[in-house]
Amino acid sequence: MSDRLPGFSTLAVHAGAQPDPTTGARATPIYQTTSFVFNDADHAASLFGLQAFGNIYTRIGNPTNAVLEERVAALEGGTAALAVASGHAAQVVILQQLLQPGDEFIAARKLYGGSINQFTHAFKSFGWNVVWADPDDIASFERAVTPRTKAIFIESIANPAGSITDIEAISTVARKAGVPLIVDNTLASPYLIRPIDHGADIVVHSLTKFLGGHGNSLGGIIVDAGTFDWSTGGKYPMLSEPRPEYHGIRLQETFGNFAFAIACRVLGLRDLGPALSPFNAFMILTGIETLPLRMQKHCDNAKAVAEFLAGHPAVASVNYAGLASDKYNQLARKYAPKGAGAVFTFSLKGGYDAGVSLVSKLQLFSHLANVGDTRSLVIHPASTTHSQLDDAAKVKSGAGPDVVRLSIGIEDKEDLIADLEQALGA
Ligand SMILES: *Cc1c(COP(=O)(O)O)cnc(C)c1O
Repeated sequence: MSDRLPGFSTLAVHAGAQPDPTTGARATPIYQTTSFVFNDADHAASLFGLQAFGNIYTRIGNPTNAVLEERVAALEGGTAALAVASGHAAQVVILQQLLQPGDEFIAARKLYGGSINQFTHAFKSFGWNVVWADPDDIASFERAVTPRTKAIFIESIANPAGSITDIEAISTVARKAGVPLIVDNTLASPYLIRPIDHGADIVVHSLTKFLGGHGNSLGGIIVDAGTFDWSTGGKYPMLSEPRPEYHGIRLQETFGNFAFAIACRVLGLRDLGPALSPFNAFMILTGIETLPLRMQKHCDNAKAVAEFLAGHPAVASVNYAGLASDKYNQLARKYAPKGAGAVFTFSLKGGYDAGVSLVSKLQLFSHLANVGDTRSLVIHPASTTHSQLDDAAKVKSGAGPDVVRLSIGIEDKEDLIADLEQALGA
């Protein structure tokens, strides 16, 4: 091998993997085992004391999951990663390392609906207080900072309308406040945007979406950028103070630029327990091998569909950052030059009834609550995910009665357009 650095597509296929040393198996085996035999008593003691790396028990780590972790860390340009059972589990594990009861974190208002619920209700019961800011108004993040702020959380490409966030501007606010910037990169995937290159300290994914890519397995992952100094000011005791669970070691001091990933594993995953099944890790690894091919096709199809919709007489407006006329097109050109993703919304002149009718007439699009599948998906938020909100609240969250959300798959774009045409026209 030459000493050139492998490119993104090469990493997507190879990073973290090697032929199985025992059997020669070329695909990464599914290590479907709960536990691992120790070499001897000293080996066991050193593993438990964090003096040696190795496998103990699948709730803490598993060799199949380890390949997935190394691969996503490589694709995102991080120092280490931790795979967990879902995107939501990843968010809990991250914030558990950063917040004590009574602390705050700032979150962008435009987020995946499940994250809005999790932050507002579930996290409140842990004593973690979310303070909302507007990703289109960077100063709103600055105004939200208090002495109890411990992190800032944003999405790179934001739900539901596929808007693009100015990661660098918000990372400047985070630096000034002395807190880490967490970026949910689910809708972009590292193929379109690598948030660490723009100042993110922690990247989180729902692997369930574009990384797994086939709508068949849940998973989540946390990537440590290795950029944040956890020792300053005693703000992050989980990382900087002696840990009684591990004979008084300090994680930052011991593990340096991958201390956050270690904390998530040995304090978060070990004690909260949302382990990823090695079978799901295998499915997601297989999906990642084709990420660059799929993502480019997703984006090219999405642009063609958005252009078709923008020219259709029944359509009032299209929110797709890849259109030259879109409010976020400038940011899309800067952050996601290969494509503006495949999830976006559009609104119908016929309002609520037209939305319900469209969804029921579409044949190739599946009507369901997911994104990032090979298949094209559609949902009418006002009659489903957001039906509990009043009309004003629906509009504010980008889910007005006339709004339809699409997640464009990798089928032939002509077939997707034909399906939309029949459903809009009939
Ligand atoms: C789906 C999703 C999540 C939650 O992930 P799960 O794997 O469903 O727990 C978080 N953020 C975004 C942007 C998502 O699309």
